[in-house]
Amino acid sequence: MGAVAVKKVASRQVRYLSYQLSLISDWLLFTVYSPMTPFVEKLKTPLTKQKISVLQINLGKRCNLACSHCHVEASPGRHEEMTPEVCEQIIELIERFPQIKTVDLTGGAPEMLYGFKPIVETSRKAGKEVIVRSNLTIYFEKGFTDIPEYCAGHQLRVVASLPCYLADNVDKMRGMGVYDRSIAALQWLNRLGYAQEPNLIVDLVYNPQIPKSENFSLTPDQVSLTRDYKKFLQEHFNISFNNLFTITNLPVGRTRFHLEHRQLYQPYLQFLEDHFNGDTVEHLMCRNQLSIDYLGNIYDCDFNQMEDLVACTSQGQKLTLPDLLQAGTLELIAEVQTASYCYGCTAGSGSSCGGALISS
Ligand code: SF4
Ligand code: SF4
Repeated sequence: MGAVAVKKVASRQVRYLSYQLSLISDWLLFTVYSPMTPFVEKLKTPLTKQKISVLQINLGKRCNLACSHCHVEASPGRHEEMTPEVCEQIIELIERFPQIKTVDLTGGAPEMLYGFKPIVETSRKAGKEVIVRSNLTIYFEKGFTDIPEYCAGHQLRVVASLPCYLADNVDKMRGMGVYDRSIAALQWLNRLGYAQEPNLIVDLVYNPQIPKSENFSLTPDQVSLTRDYKKFLQEHFNISFNNLFTITNLPVGRTRFHLEHRQLYQPYLQFLEDHFNGDTVEHLMCRNQLSIDYLGNIYDCDFNQMEDLVACTSQGQKLTLPDLLQAGTLELIAEVQTASYCYGCTAGSGSSCGGALISS
């Protein structure tokens, strides 16, 4: 290794160490001095699980992008992905449980990860709705240019990130040129019949910019922002889409890192708590879904997955796919595991992978 490379590695290690130290000091501040109410105390009753109807599967951490707000901390340099063994267990789960109505595939870029096509095909054969959470730009990467036709052919519901309808904001969050490729991808989907035919649905996802000061704001009203997106995209690019989902940035993964870096993590959490809305609680996505990671561990949602907060039985046993298959039931979780970032799902109109939880 040359001197420059050694210097680079050393400086990366110093940056990583200082990040870890900031996490520890933040944790100390949070636990010892924080005026915040623990989320679990804010709820009037325990956050119980309802009948499971959604499987959200995170196929791994590899992605062709490395967005600044990514809670998964995905990037082209990550190599974690599902193994054939875990994929087989997921397929068995999908085939054995008719109560699963929706299979929701995420990552990383799910289209480029092991298990994508086998899980899609099993799920569609079993009559499930399949959602693929796409960054759209993957359609232009070598080896993945068949994906739009594949999605249309299997009538997959595409939920596509487009954190703003203006180019500048998207490229700042996701990388140069991402906006233009996203626009071209949406036009491609429209040509295939998406947002034109009833079985071909494409939804967009709005994420706010990561706050740079204590001047925080809640996500804009979903209905009026949908109107703005539709008008702009139709007028400028002749693009149609079905729904827009506004999603709050939860302080997890890279979002947390950026907030920490600006000493905004604690104030942002406090802002979210100050806007807690109890009416959102009965609609939280964690209540009727299981989130599965590429190793076969079970969580209540993708955020808990990223924070390693595993779902537990009422006896406190951590759950895995083989446990569910062996028990022959999906109803092993009594109570959802929660943490302070849950305030992000309950602030204002609420937030979930399907957008706002209630109308404002
Ligand atoms: S936000 Fe989505 S597209 Fe961006 S790096 Fe993360 S997984 Fe990839
Ligand atoms: S982060 Fe949101 S979805 Fe996940 S457990 Fe907390 S409230 Fe539920």
